[in-house]
Amino acid sequence: MFMEHLSKTDPQMAQLVIQETERQRDKVRLIPSENYVSAAVLEASGSVLTNKYSEGYAGKRYYEGQQYVDEIERLAIQRAKELFGSESANVQPYSGSPANLAAYYAFCRPGDTIMGLALDHGGHLTHGWGVSITGDFFNAVRYQLHPETHLIDYDMVRQMARQHRPKVIMAGATAYPRLIDFAVFAEVAREVGAVLVVDMAHIAGLVAGGAHPSPVPHADVVTTTTHKSLRGPRGGMILMKKVHAKAINKAVFPGLQGGPHNHTTAGIAVALKEAATDEFKAYAHKIVENAKHLAACLNERGFALVSGGTDNHLVLVDVSKKGITGKPFAKAMDRAGLEANYNTVPFDPRPPMDPSGVRLGTPAVTSRGMGKPEMEKIATWMDRVAKSVDNEAELDKISGEVKEMCRTFPAPGISI
Ligand SMILES: *Cc1c(COP(=O)(O)O)cnc(C)c1O
Repeated sequence: MFMEHLSKTDPQMAQLVIQETERQRDKVRLIPSENYVSAAVLEASGSVLTNKYSEGYAGKRYYEGQQYVDEIERLAIQRAKELFGSESANVQPYSGSPANLAAYYAFCRPGDTIMGLALDHGGHLTHGWGVSITGDFFNAVRYQLHPETHLIDYDMVRQMARQHRPKVIMAGATAYPRLIDFAVFAEVAREVGAVLVVDMAHIAGLVAGGAHPSPVPHADVVTTTTHKSLRGPRGGMILMKKVHAKAINKAVFPGLQGGPHNHTTAGIAVALKEAATDEFKAYAHKIVENAKHLAACLNERGFALVSGGTDNHLVLVDVSKKGITGKPFAKAMDRAGLEANYNTVPFDPRPPMDPSGVRLGTPAVTSRGMGKPEMEKIATWMDRVAKSVDNEAELDKISGEVKEMCRTFPAPGISI
């Protein structure tokens, strides 16, 4: 029986976990930062490794009993280095945000200048946004997208870097549908003597599978989450040039964290092994193919897309042209079994709590084996939702159709 032990000890919690499992099974999950990990990753990250303390690094721990944990961490590091072709790796960051904080902490003191993409232009909170510690403890300056093309304004990046001389330049995004030119960032960083940190959290799986150019040859440091397109457990990772390894390792532990989450490290190692296969390479390319097709189908149905389309796993839709706003549309989509999130669009005249856009991504649906015909269905459903945001009967009808389609695409790691 599924959740046998939990059902006995804590039936209330077991019930909630089962309900969430069914929800993930029965819905089309389009949040671009989410995915389905394999059963193997679930087993590793749900293991007794959660019982073990291991502050320090392999061979230099502060607790005994590290015979196997050292091997696990070394294996994860080795696989990360091989998969991404990096000189060094740290697999201990608890998640993407702590990984970024460690990168700043390695090179900056409070009040130093950092530079990143503005949140309302697709950057992450931790790229120096005001409400984040990264905007509060550092002097954060923010570049933007070009007002017409909605691509990163590389001229602005160069001009601002020359003017502000940041210690760290952060490249990478959380809501940007196009390729990022890491070579330009590297050139600018070199010119002004900044450390280039690329945050590839969203696109790590695409990079691993060769479906997006790699930042590793260009950046001093690359931070990432492990649970988005890379399809591992929730966690973080830092890849760096050898010259920066000491500073980064020191910033992660003892700078920022205590004991690493060994069960997560094991899950990451498994995910990295999976990501090195030809099957994953095909998966990464299929994510992009699906996103491009979803974008084209939405375009045909009158949805306006930021930058006109996509090069990666993500589509940013401006729904204001349909006479609706992001929040009610995302809520109506959810009722219809299509899970997304409302999102600002570049130069959005609307407030962040009800912006003009929704953000869609294809990593999770592609993990279920969905392809072009399903992307077309999703676009058609979204078009129907847009016409019936307040029509609960219609939304429930769509939800039934979505569930029916999901039945034929079993989700990895879900066995009920
Ligand atoms: C998701 C994300 C993060 C933060 O990761 P958490 O694991 O949520 O802390 C950082 N940077 C980018 C670009 C992201 O997309």
